[in-house]
Amino acid sequence: MVWAMTAAQQAEEKPSPAMTREQIHAFFATLQAANPHPETELAYTTPFELLTAVLLSAQATDVGVNKATAKLYPVANTPQAILDLGEDGLIEHIKTIGLYKSKARHLMETCRILVEQHGGEVPHSREALEALPGVGRKTANVVLNVAFGEPTMAVDTHIFRLGNRTGLAVGKTPLAVELKLLKRIPPEFMLHAHHWLILHGRYVCQARKPRCWECSVSAACRYKAKTPA
Ligand code: SF4
Repeated sequence: MVWAMTAAQQAEEKPSPAMTREQIHAFFATLQAANPHPETELAYTTPFELLTAVLLSAQATDVGVNKATAKLYPVANTPQAILDLGEDGLIEHIKTIGLYKSKARHLMETCRILVEQHGGEVPHSREALEALPGVGRKTANVVLNVAFGEPTMAVDTHIFRLGNRTGLAVGKTPLAVELKLLKRIPPEFMLHAHHWLILHGRYVCQARKPRCWECSVSAACRYKAKTPA
């Protein structure tokens, strides 16, 4: 997941007025109709593979992470197997990804804790996830949502921008936006809301030039300076 817009750039864009309850419902109903079962673009088949991919994805593209894990996972896709590779062996597989040295260190330490404290499994609890090296609130939210089906909201750069720009959830920090989204998104949309917002931010409501002229949720969005075609 790449942070495509700096904090300064985000601060320049004024938040929009808050969407009404009806607008929020229409916003998600439209995204749901177009893509009923949205999925993460990170490749994974187990909670551990997902956790690893998310850890590797900071400041990197999902495509780049998928390329590396496509070679890593057939060799090692459990905490014990990664420990058996050793840090140098792991680095050989992930050195195409930015910040690979610190990511390798975090992943080795995470694997050690998973083996020693969680029977080699990814824990299904925010507290235990956030205690793992390199795992913050955002990563824990992704794992809880994607691997365990919890209605959590991981606020990355896209969701932070979208929340403020559309008026869906205005807030000065990712946590403020997260808490507002949890409160304002109707329960029937919560499970998939994270993916709908990320995909919409990545491909339509882009940082520098939102593609308002072809945006399916334009009628519900409160952004005043809509981009013409
Ligand atoms: S109308 Fe424009 S600003 Fe609003 S969600 Fe769509 S792309 Fe983003």
